[in-house]
Amino acid sequence: MAKLTDPITILSGIGPAKAKLFAALNIHTLEDLICHFPRAYEDRTRLVPIGELDQDRYACFRATVMSTPKIAHVRKGLDIAKVQVADYSGRLTLTFFNNKYAVQNLAYGKEYIFYGMLVGDYVGYSMTNPVFEAIDSIPVATRRVMPIYPLTAGLSNAAVVKAVHQALAICDPPDEIIPEPVRQKYGILPADRAYFAIHQPASMQEAELAKKRLIFEEFFVFSAGLSLMRASRTQKKATICKSTDLSDFYHALPFSLTSAQKRAIDEISADLTRGTPMNRLVQGDVGSGKTMVAAAAAYLSVKNGHQAALMVPTEILAEQHFDSLTRLLAPLGLRLCLLTGSMSIKQKKLAREAIAAAEVDLVIGTHALLSDATVFSDLGLVITDEQHRFGVAQRSRLSAKGSDPHLLVMSATPIPRTLALLLYGDLDLSIIDELPPGRENVDTFLVDESYRARINSFIRRHAEEHHQCFVVCPAVEENDDLDIKAAEVWAETLQKKAFPDLRVALLHGQMKGAQKEGIMRDFAAGNADILVATTVIEVGVDVPNATLMVIEDADRFGLSQLHQLRGRVGRGSAKSYCILTSSTKNDQTLQRLKAFCKTNDGFRIAEEDLRLRGPGDFFGSRQSGMPVFRVASMNFDLPTLKAAQEASVFWIETLGTSETKEANALRVRIAELFRRAEGTMN
Ligand code: ADP
Ligand code: MG
Repeated sequence: MAKLTDPITILSGIGPAKAKLFAALNIHTLEDLICHFPRAYEDRTRLVPIGELDQDRYACFRATVMSTPKIAHVRKGLDIAKVQVADYSGRLTLTFFNNKYAVQNLAYGKEYIFYGMLVGDYVGYSMTNPVFEAIDSIPVATRRVMPIYPLTAGLSNAAVVKAVHQALAICDPPDEIIPEPVRQKYGILPADRAYFAIHQPASMQEAELAKKRLIFEEFFVFSAGLSLMRASRTQKKATICKSTDLSDFYHALPFSLTSAQKRAIDEISADLTRGTPMNRLVQGDVGSGKTMVAAAAAYLSVKNGHQAALMVPTEILAEQHFDSLTRLLAPLGLRLCLLTGSMSIKQKKLAREAIAAAEVDLVIGTHALLSDATVFSDLGLVITDEQHRFGVAQRSRLSAKGSDPHLLVMSATPIPRTLALLLYGDLDLSIIDELPPGRENVDTFLVDESYRARINSFIRRHAEEHHQCFVVCPAVEENDDLDIKAAEVWAETLQKKAFPDLRVALLHGQMKGAQKEGIMRDFAAGNADILVATTVIEVGVDVPNATLMVIEDADRFGLSQLHQLRGRVGRGSAKSYCILTSSTKNDQTLQRLKAFCKTNDGFRIAEEDLRLRGPGDFFGSRQSGMPVFRVASMNFDLPTLKAAQEASVFWIETLGTSETKEANALRVRIAELFRRAEGTMN
């Protein structure tokens, strides 16, 4: 027997070259291979009579060879063989290109199972290069449910099927972690059966059951992990804030807060007086005024004699927050400082000395805050902005710089409440579901290619009024290289053909962090008119002068993602617009996009996204800092997710400290999941 941790090169047929291809799919060990789940299945179990074959659809059928294959040597390197087959319902000509195997193995008068696609033209019906197997053979490519795997260039589905088959034959699948009573209650397959059935299902139904089990398992682990974290937190002691008087703070504000902002601040105040560390997520749409909520929290912590830290994902954001918060809080007596990676060594040293000596009350910074060199005198509150960029471990690394400080996490990604409760089970939730008054909607239009000239003149008009424009190119099938190509080509086209007199800049995901920041900074400073980008601009930089967002092939994006992108404009006083282009003919997609044009409410959009596309998208691979869900790329349903959560909470509460084999395996898996999550950041 082999072990799950053995490299895949122990399998026959996998040498260094093949291994490299597998590595491109992040498959190194037998376990990786066994956990490389099919993205779809083809039902080849049903045999269709020839007379009932549908045009342009793959199907299996059983037929007798009615002629000896005849080879025509068309030209050098091109041999064509034709063969007649028939069953009781009809007759069909099969064509094989350069296929010696077929010619040698299809025998006149014998029956075979074929799998192929029927095509029709003016001559009649035919089929090209079907696969076939003898009727008494072991089913490999016909008469079974065929798993279809995520692949990479050079690696065929058949090669993956073969490798997985071997792996399952020589080692045991991962250990069971879901206790028997839970499996019973929720109708969940045992682990060993599920791992086989996901790869080699006897029927489509069995494939579904296996999928359900593995999705359940993944969320069970995740949710159990969150429950454990929550449990360990409530045993901790935090500093108690005695004063929650915010009147000076409220007076200093240039506007009055919305009631949603006030509610969030009240919830935070209550947390701070409680004695266990606050662990709160503030969710609010772009522009809902989360910074003020963070400022209020920082103000309270400082007024009660403790330091506060605000961590943000980019240097530009850090600088923007530092400027606006200094304006607000310095007059109230708070001492602020900035700490980012690009500051000079001397500047950083001075900042860190001041932090350690308690000469600073509120530190605003990037990952530089996490460095061992940053030592706080008395850190009472940790705030992270745009939380989906930071993982659990990064948050706790910052928290470890105080003694169980309060934690406030802010997110601009609206997630439906039901889902947020599942995803952030270790956090309490405040939702800011209201925008400051007077905020104008970003007018949004959906157009097709026939509007190209008008789009361009719209862009030009904005540029002439000294405003700026974003143009976002879509993700091309999760392939970063192609994304970049598309954006590059488009930037060049716009620069050369449409706007030779304007300044077109380009931003994409494979640029280094500093380069990206440089380009954004330049754009924010007004040094380009048009910024062509892949979705990397999603995370928040304020360019109030940008008034137009053009999203190409908008049908390729999820609604929530479109909403994030649209949030990049409409941040200044000028009226802003968003144009979605799409040439899709799909009715449902068009409806989805039209609905998007009609509302600017992120939570409603998220609910709609959840309804239409299921929860999978909210766990998309781009959402870094979240655990990487292996099965989440498959469609799954909310009830399964909820059941898994319910089951895990029950399990932790009743058996969390038990030493059964399953409980121990579960603890190992939880640790693995959160470690993998950390690996996805940056
Ligand atoms: P986000 O939630 O996206 O972080 P910000 O905190 O950056 O939003 O706020 C967006 C803008 O709205 C800022 O310019 C801020 O000063 C302003 N703002 C915040 N709260 C209010 C309010 N209650 N009334 C008016 N303007 C506000
Ligand atoms: Mg913000």
